[in-house]
Amino acid sequence: MYDIIIIGGGPAGLSCAIYARRAGLSCIVIERGFIGGQMTTTYSIENYPGIKQISGFDLAEAMRESAESLGCEFTEADVTEIRDLGEVKEVYMGEDKLSSKVIVLAMGAYRRKLGVNGEDRFTGSGVSYCATCDGNFFKDKNVTVVGGGNTALEDALYLSGFANKVTLMHRRDEFRGARHLSKLVLANDKIDVMYDTVLTDISGKFNVSAVTAQNVKTKEKTELPMDGVFIAVGTVPETGVVKGLVTLDEAGYILTDETLKTNIPGIFAAGDIRKKELRQVVTAAADGAIAAHMAGRYINEELSK
Ligand code: NAP
Repeated sequence: MYDIIIIGGGPAGLSCAIYARRAGLSCIVIERGFIGGQMTTTYSIENYPGIKQISGFDLAEAMRESAESLGCEFTEADVTEIRDLGEVKEVYMGEDKLSSKVIVLAMGAYRRKLGVNGEDRFTGSGVSYCATCDGNFFKDKNVTVVGGGNTALEDALYLSGFANKVTLMHRRDEFRGARHLSKLVLANDKIDVMYDTVLTDISGKFNVSAVTAQNVKTKEKTELPMDGVFIAVGTVPETGVVKGLVTLDEAGYILTDETLKTNIPGIFAAGDIRKKELRQVVTAAADGAIAAHMAGRYINEELSK
């Protein structure tokens, strides 16, 4: 039996693993996809203290190496069920099962779908949710980015390095993302901004060849020839497997107190998966540290009563 099972290998989970091992706690990280989580889809991180610039992939790799060198175990699996038996927790991955004293939920969030015609049909054939993963396929092509947050702004800037033209469509007349990113976008000759615009259709034969944009004020629709569509309209928490187990807010994020306890003793939540104000790599990493610390305290003080 492990002291801590950490579900999710993003910055929250990896930081939790590092702090757990340094506190002498045994742990395993269960990750179903890439170690690093959403961080690996960020091509340039420039706000992690002490590091001027690093790719999300490199930072993830460095965190994984630290956790591994300290003796944390890793496994690749999809968690299908979590059972709270009081002092023992069980994590099921299909037929396989692991047990622990504590579970730290650090599954993060995934990119929200737009829900428009052609989105599902052309996913992987011109529709993408990850500019850093797929941007390279659009050298000298025309692409659309949908959204007005930091991700959309960063994606538009990143894609401007490959594409012939980037059309950034935002449903309002003001970006949600950071002012300095907005300034860079507006100063970039390769980026056309369409405010007050929603994308209503994605069309083509085998791959995307056109999109339909609609101005939300005039209702006017325009068809634009297009090779790619990058959707960056926010994230959805990965809380499907804990629905009914821990308390969630109306948007599906896990409610914790400031010590990252959920409503269930011995189950903590860390990173983007929990209801919080600021979702950044640094806040996820900080959450991981707190969760490991509180897990140690729970094991020493609550379980040994
Ligand atoms: P976000 O901040 O929630 O922005 C989502 C954007 O998509 C908003 O502009 C929103 O429009 C738009 N949107 C949502 N649903 C839509 C729909 N159905 N149709 C059209 N547009 C829609 O999400 P995010 O940009 O993915 O960022 C998520 C979190 O990660 C944020 O906390 C962000 O600050 C953080 N992040 C930070 C950095 C960085 O600091 N460098 C980089 C990436 C992400 P409205 O504005 O009208 O709501």
